[in-house]
Amino acid sequence: MKYSEYSVVIVGSGAAGLYAALKLSQEIELPDGILLVTKSGLGESNSLYAQGGIVGVIHQNPEDSVNCHVQDTLKAGAGLCDAKAVEYISSASDEVINDLISSGVKFDRDSTGELTFTLEAAHSIKRILHSGGDATGRGITEALRQKVLEDDNITVIENSMAVELLVDSDKECKGAILYNELTEEHEIVYTSALVLATGGVGQLYQYTTNPEGATGDGIDLAYNAGAVIQDMEFIQFHPTALALSPNNKNRFLISEAVRGEGAKLINNHGDEFMAKYHDKRELAPRDIVTRAIYSEMTREHGFNVFLNASMIDHNKLSRRFPTIAKKCGEQGIDISKKPIPVAPAAHYTMGGIKATVEGKTSINGLYAIGEVASTGLHGANRLASNSLLECVVCAYELADYLSFANLMPPKKIDNNIRQIIEVYSAPISDEDYDIQTLKQNLKKLMWNNVGIIRSGEKLQEALTEIQKMKADFKRTRKCLNKDEYEYRNMLTTAELIITEALARKESRGAHCRSDYKQTNSQAIHSNIKKQENKELIYVK
Ligand SMILES: Cc1cc2nc3c(=O)[nH]c(=O)nc-3n(C[C@H](O)[C@H](O)[C@H](O)COP(=O)(O)OP(=O)(O)OC[C@H]3O[C@@H](n4cnc5c(N)ncnc54)[C@H](O)[C@@H]3O)c2cc1C
Repeated sequence: MKYSEYSVVIVGSGAAGLYAALKLSQEIELPDGILLVTKSGLGESNSLYAQGGIVGVIHQNPEDSVNCHVQDTLKAGAGLCDAKAVEYISSASDEVINDLISSGVKFDRDSTGELTFTLEAAHSIKRILHSGGDATGRGITEALRQKVLEDDNITVIENSMAVELLVDSDKECKGAILYNELTEEHEIVYTSALVLATGGVGQLYQYTTNPEGATGDGIDLAYNAGAVIQDMEFIQFHPTALALSPNNKNRFLISEAVRGEGAKLINNHGDEFMAKYHDKRELAPRDIVTRAIYSEMTREHGFNVFLNASMIDHNKLSRRFPTIAKKCGEQGIDISKKPIPVAPAAHYTMGGIKATVEGKTSINGLYAIGEVASTGLHGANRLASNSLLECVVCAYELADYLSFANLMPPKKIDNNIRQIIEVYSAPISDEDYDIQTLKQNLKKLMWNNVGIIRSGEKLQEALTEIQKMKADFKRTRKCLNKDEYEYRNMLTTAELIITEALARKESRGAHCRSDYKQTNSQAIHSNIKKQENKELIYVK
């Protein structure tokens, strides 16, 4: 197999991966350069589609404070946030957001040139910065993407996915096996710092706001390499995705910021209902709004509820939400006149690879940043717009941490790594799988059994089914193409979510069980790890 060596290899080109590459290049002289490898085009990611904004606890907003943001985050996180991580990330936001502005990110400003801040659910004050009205993700990723392309220290490989990590017998990560979708070839990259910035798992669910690539690849890679995986049962279902018909699976998001500007949820009879569920009504934490909508839909045997934005000034609506207005307009919905049909959809992965704010994982040489990581910022329920902040702060801190590390590519490889390489060099059977159907079956199972409201019986049924699906799909390691790799990764990730959801015999944040409605007095993380040949070992 072809091989190459880099000082640092970053997998994924969303906000976390792009910004990490840029900061590393600016901070450190790296003799063997930086590789940024991504499985579709550069910048195609969840980040690109982020709408509402990014939390900015910055000096330009003197009414805000780190303490206020920390308290809001801890409250939404339902007892499971790591207070130190929350404080660290919040405190770093001033420096990092201002660095983003210097890097060319254009946040929206008023007519006097001052930054404008908006409100989102469960935030005490207006602190959300946005770009292009409701195209914040595009504003951030486009600016970073341009800088990355101009940077000679960064090599970009597109349409190539990491499919296994090279971990030696000392449990050190020394690189990865890549699969290139265009050439259909595997290759090896060696490095002493492998950074996973592979994003979330929304595509495990039938209805999701996430684009096609969000298949949990990083979770599969890290779990199979022996890293600790944390709190995977906490999947955030966004309350308001555009619900045109049951067949519309990848759903366009109607940002929380629309409710922040005053839009109201109404049921099929046209009645506002949120007052029944929470005193903050439409701006209650996401899990509460999602369950309220779910409950209205179930009661009415409906497929959706509606978001009425017609009371918002027309000019403001089109200025603040041009992307949403355009997308709805294309479907015949003039949002200034007609209510928007909405329903919940899988949106964000609170858990992930257990990592520090600098991205350190339980495996030396392996780092995780962004949505794929679980730093303790989000706890059991993410506060809106905290995720983009986590991406950029952790990328920034990772670069700072690695500037003190020895980043020489590995000098020798051992038998463990040789064996992995052999697996990917050997031919495999050309047995044909109908991967699209297999993926759809998995997504339906996850939606029906591991969704917004869960029960032990449904979770157990899902676990049995997933294990059967794993047994039927023989490709546990080398696969024939990208779709097969994604399906392989989805199966592992689904099993982890279900196993941790079954073990959590309480309801907390986004994890709601009909058979265990109480929230336990002690908040405990779920940590899971693969050891030797034994699967799914819990670690305290
Ligand atoms: C529609 C939508 C709206 C959102 N709005 C907001 C918002 O307003 N504010 C906010 O804070 N958050 C928002 N979020 C969440 C936020 O966008 C994400 O949490 C965040 O962007 C994640 O960034 P990331 O860099 O960690 O991952 P991503 O942006 O998802 O990037 C992951 C990258 O990894 C690549 N990849 C995956 N697997 C592999 C592999 N095996 N090999 C190679 N490459 C791989 C992908 O192709 C992609 O480039 C939104 C999310 C969605 C989907």
